[in-house]
Amino acid sequence: MLTRYSEARLPTAHGEFRVVVYRTGQPGGAGASVIGLAHEEHVAMVMGDVAGPGVLTRVHSSCFTGEVMGSLRCDCRAQLEGALARIAREGRGVLVYLVQEGRGIGLGNKVRAYQLQDEGHDTVEANLALGFRADHRDYGVGAQILYDLGIRRLRLMTNNPGKYVALKGYGLELVERVPLEAPAGTDNRRYLETKKQKLGHLLESV
Ligand SMILES: [Zn+2]
Repeated sequence: MLTRYSEARLPTAHGEFRVVVYRTGQPGGAGASVIGLAHEEHVAMVMGDVAGPGVLTRVHSSCFTGEVMGSLRCDCRAQLEGALARIAREGRGVLVYLVQEGRGIGLGNKVRAYQLQDEGHDTVEANLALGFRADHRDYGVGAQILYDLGIRRLRLMTNNPGKYVALKGYGLELVERVPLEAPAGTDNRRYLETKKQKLGHLLESV
């Protein structure tokens, strides 16, 4: 159950987008606890006419620590900014922002995983040690949002082959993978190396 709940013009540092908020019918879902809302809400940032073929698309999962607090443990903020900037350069595209923190395990568990990482685990081992899979994210809602926006054939900005395969499984036609790389730094190098080696991410910078 996905409802297009509200939308408005949203001027940003990257130019003017349309922000569209979707709600799922599941009160208190994984995203709801993070942002304190009764319903799970997800967002699409839309620029230009996105219903035509080959639209530039990013399906992005939320990261409170990286995107709001400026954490350097990951590359989420750089990827978010990079995706919005690239859409703005083309003048057309969509960024779907899924509220699913910590590859789907929630904020509290993500911070527990950080603690384990400081004790020597890598990002995948830490998730497994807490009893989770390496990646709990679900792209079904993202695919439904793209459908609702009239998108069928798209160019996907991602380094993650798993996401590419997951979205294809929902019947979307992916005509191109567009790399989206952030430079590695001291605090996120091991994280990026693990994503490359254990999760198969296509990264040039590590
Ligand atoms: Zn992050």
